[in-house]
Amino acid sequence: MSKETTSKHPARGINWHTTIFMALFHVGAVAALFMFNWKALVASVVLWWVTASLGVGMGFHRLLTHRGYKTPKSVEYFLTFCGALALEGGHILWVVTHRIHHAHTDVPGDPHTPRDGGWWSHIGWMLTGPGQQHEPSVVEHYAPDLVKDRFHVWLNKYYWAPIVLLALILVAGGGWPYLMWAVFFRVTFNLHATWLVNSATHMWGKRRFATRVDSRNNWWVALLTFGEGWHNNHHANPTSARHGLAWYEVDLNWYGISVLKMLGLAWDVKLTKMRQPEEVKVIVPAKVVIEQLAPVASGDD
Ligand SMILES: [Zn+2]
Ligand SMILES: [Zn+2]
Repeated sequence: MSKETTSKHPARGINWHTTIFMALFHVGAVAALFMFNWKALVASVVLWWVTASLGVGMGFHRLLTHRGYKTPKSVEYFLTFCGALALEGGHILWVVTHRIHHAHTDVPGDPHTPRDGGWWSHIGWMLTGPGQQHEPSVVEHYAPDLVKDRFHVWLNKYYWAPIVLLALILVAGGGWPYLMWAVFFRVTFNLHATWLVNSATHMWGKRRFATRVDSRNNWWVALLTFGEGWHNNHHANPTSARHGLAWYEVDLNWYGISVLKMLGLAWDVKLTKMRQPEEVKVIVPAKVVIEQLAPVASGDD
């Protein structure tokens, strides 16, 4: 990276617990390639959508982290449960890490900025850094809404339990190819897709908004994450439940939220109010861009 490094993290050595877990899942993902089975692949794709779109995108990110819309508690818990099956760690710690990222984007304090290196921002911050481990006082500061909720506290602690249960059901009902594709391959593939939002979309892509942070709109990361790759739009308007602002910015997580709204299961949906998204290009000064946004837009973070 030619950019000046702003927040070098102290070397901590290898985080063996996380590294061994990651290595096992990568070996399992490769092993799945030798056990190909169409039905297992279909199960994997359906579970990918359930866990990554309903769970991580609509649940962890747009609902729990940014409160871009409101739902009944039952829907919030269901989406969170789906997210637990993505095996991205305890969701309260996920939310805290992401709220810290928005509070200190690409400056000292950002847990995973590519200004500290592309590898660091993708996976290094977990393998050789603190990852999503935070002091209790930090958790309470960044997620006071979640630490009060007994369901969230419980699932944050036992986030691994749902996927263990799923794995047993898959082996019993379908056999080993289902386990390898719908757990090991799916989880590993989706972990990289999620990490690409931290790495690729802060390095590669287009900038509609001239935000002070490095975020980019990256179409292929958006396809891999059901819409999370429209990351420049997101950093410009973090609470907006909609990230893809133009018709060609495919955003399945937004379509899912729209369906919830049609069913009466989502309300107070926050949006970026822009008459013509295409009018606003990177050449427009940030100040002008921000003035075109609705009150929900609060700048860069
Ligand atoms: Zn970001
Ligand atoms: Zn965010």
